[in-house]
Amino acid sequence: MSALSAPVADRHVANRRTFAIISHPDAGKTTLTEKLLLFGGAIQMAGEVKARGDSRRVRSDWMAVERERGISVSSAVMTFVYDGLTYNLLDTPGHQDFSEDTYRTLTAVDSAVMVIDAAKGIETQTRKLFEVCRLRDVPIITFVNKMDREARDPFDLMSEIEEQLALDVTPATWPIGMGRDFLGTYDILNDTLLLFDRGEGARVTEAVRCSGLDDPKLAELLPAHALAKLTEEVEMVRGLCPPFDVESYRAGHLTPVFFGSAINNFGVRELLGGVAELAPPPRPQPAEPRAIAPTETKVAGFVFKVQANMDPQHRDRVAFVRLCSGRFQRGMKLKHVRTGRMMAVQNPMFFLAQDRNLAEEAWPGDILGIPNHGTLRIGDTLTEGEELKVTGIPNFAPEILRRVRLDDPMKSKHLKRALEQMADEGVTRVFKPLIGTDWIVGVVGQLQIDVLAERIRAEYDLKMHFEQAPYETARWVSADDKTLMKRFLDEVRGSLAEDHDGAPVFMARNSWELNRTQQDWPDVKFSATREQG
Ligand code: GDP
Repeated sequence: MSALSAPVADRHVANRRTFAIISHPDAGKTTLTEKLLLFGGAIQMAGEVKARGDSRRVRSDWMAVERERGISVSSAVMTFVYDGLTYNLLDTPGHQDFSEDTYRTLTAVDSAVMVIDAAKGIETQTRKLFEVCRLRDVPIITFVNKMDREARDPFDLMSEIEEQLALDVTPATWPIGMGRDFLGTYDILNDTLLLFDRGEGARVTEAVRCSGLDDPKLAELLPAHALAKLTEEVEMVRGLCPPFDVESYRAGHLTPVFFGSAINNFGVRELLGGVAELAPPPRPQPAEPRAIAPTETKVAGFVFKVQANMDPQHRDRVAFVRLCSGRFQRGMKLKHVRTGRMMAVQNPMFFLAQDRNLAEEAWPGDILGIPNHGTLRIGDTLTEGEELKVTGIPNFAPEILRRVRLDDPMKSKHLKRALEQMADEGVTRVFKPLIGTDWIVGVVGQLQIDVLAERIRAEYDLKMHFEQAPYETARWVSADDKTLMKRFLDEVRGSLAEDHDGAPVFMARNSWELNRTQQDWPDVKFSATREQG
């Protein structure tokens, strides 16, 4: 159907950057996001930052739901166009209880920007999120933020990134002073000077092109001592750091580092320029039985997030689909590979920040919101007919298990439905022990339990409460040898449950029991993650 000339598709692919910002809370992700959107002309969003304690984030329509719930449960998608490129910025919730959502969002990006507070360096959440990026070799550009404040020595920061993340580090820009003495940055890759215009607020200063550090212009623009220090430091950088190598960056082995101050809109355009020039366009997507190349003419995509719609009266949900290949057109019929059914995508949503319209067309790297009644689940693949299954979207073993108790036992069917829908959305894991009538829910963080309880009460009108579960941990189990697997399942039946896809799960009362069972059954695989789908 899409008889599409290859160069057109290639151009659309080449012009897309789908990325996420990862950071520890307070490093400046919200501020940076705002400033990036400013460049994309989505100015009306920039002022609409809500402040509530430490959960500040850029607003989008989805955030209305969050505001009602008082906490952030979603990753918004923000699309903006700047200088001929289309950027899809996927927001990752900063709260650690929602790291699962974040992990899955990171499966839908081609690169990431890691924001570090210049005074704090690498923090716990930075490291965790980085590890997820590493699992998929997601290339990372580092932005050292808050240079307008007292910061750590930049060489110190470089070696911290290098040592703690085991990553080669090459500064793309270098700071001239810091805090009250912050004068600007020197772009090492392009030999340009960017002066920090104190007091000019969000005004974006023009970079001064130089022929090198010995350019006489520099002596006019910088005080002698600052220039001497800069020259010395840049020489050291050139001696100490590996030269920038785009291949090494794109393979996830090296991170270019930009210095700036998001709140002052300083260095943000240069960072965006870095994303434009260095960050990869849509990458091939791992799938079974073959990878999906972005330049293929047939459409393929996968669901990385499901979110309940804003209206609690309707059980509509929106599946966030990352397009992997082809040119998507509204109204197109796509095959839902898990069920084998064809579905017409009539009302897809697009996330252009200034204008969230119906999507008429979308290209690889773009994110579509597809409203549906529960057909689409996290990990599902959509194609134009081919049997492809996107891989690498993990399911994590929950760290907190609770037994669900209904006040009215006659409502158990309702409860089943509510729990299954929550599981489809990825809000919780649901386990049904083979013995007994209770449901067990599992989450990665306590906050998820609170959200779950609130939503079951509000959206399904069910009176229920959670109790301590008699289990401490859950593991998905599998074995290559079918007879062995059957013997194992029979033997441990009292500790078995099924997850909401019917996959067998071993529920351990404590870690001793888990270790013991693992030792007794060395050929059974106990897994803390399971591929979704
Ligand atoms: P997030 O939690 O990572 O989203 O961080 P925010 O963007 O909410 O920023 C946290 C705090 O740092 C806020 O008070 C910001 O105003 C402040 N901040 C962000 N960027 C800068 C910066 O470049 N310089 C200074 N001095 N403060 C900043």
